[in-house]
Amino acid sequence: MSRPPLSLAALEARIVRCRRCPRLVAWREEVARTKRRAYRDEVYWGRPVPGFGDPRARIVLVGLAPGAHGSNRTGRMFTGDRSGDFLWPALHRAGLATAPRSLARDDGLELHRAFITAAARCAPPANRPTPAELARCAPFLDAELALLRWARVYLALGAVGWEAVLDHLRRAGRELPRPRPRFGHGAEWFLPGGPALIGTYHPSQQNTQTGRLTPAMLDAVLRRAFTGRARPPAQRPAGGSGREARADPSPVRAPTWSCPTGRRRGVKPGKRIRTGWLRSWRGLPPSGITGRARDQE
Ligand code: SF4
Repeated sequence: MSRPPLSLAALEARIVRCRRCPRLVAWREEVARTKRRAYRDEVYWGRPVPGFGDPRARIVLVGLAPGAHGSNRTGRMFTGDRSGDFLWPALHRAGLATAPRSLARDDGLELHRAFITAAARCAPPANRPTPAELARCAPFLDAELALLRWARVYLALGAVGWEAVLDHLRRAGRELPRPRPRFGHGAEWFLPGGPALIGTYHPSQQNTQTGRLTPAMLDAVLRRAFTGRARPPAQRPAGGSGREARADPSPVRAPTWSCPTGRRRGVKPGKRIRTGWLRSWRGLPPSGITGRARDQE
């Protein structure tokens, strides 16, 4: 990529035109031509799939690559296959998606405070992009993550997404520890002065049908990312206010104001409250801003 684009829309226009990987271009177009019998009346997207979501996202989900008859058909990340059928209800339960299903690019679905992207933008044969193809596609991920300036948590959907985020951070000049943080379900890594990285098993059929990844497991990871609790215990201030809070180096800021005890006594969910006590609990300096109390299961 020559110069980094100035907006996500400009970046999307570049992504969908890309033909840098001959093997993937041939595969995505072949799949779009031959189609699966169940979708024979549909017009496949058959192009690279751009990221989707809120430009002011606090959580960025990074997957592997589009599915041949999923995103490569519909043109939206995690849409039209079993992975999406598992992921979108979880995003909806977490309050990040406006609907529990993603059907097509024009179905009106929105993500709030979240963005979904992937390490590779073209559907690979056998869901396996080669290291060279991942490297060729990496500038798109770099540009996208650079434009998502509000991101506080990168949520890697699988080991490839995890490594793609680490590689992005390295290319962005961040120092990575040696050995590199290892991927695992629920694994967390905290970049000093930058976003946190959390891992979850990929919501592929292989994982969800075998019970390796359950809805409850994914909910727990999303809740951890969403509530802003993803920070190392050592960095959480004991008293949680004043100078101590201001000195807190935690890279994760709470994306919403919510009750840490599940339900603040005497305050109904939805009632406007001052957030000073919440900010001090989270180790942030007081702002005097008001927010809405949220019920939190
Ligand atoms: S995988 Fe990425 S770099 Fe390769 S053709 Fe698709 S969009 Fe271009």
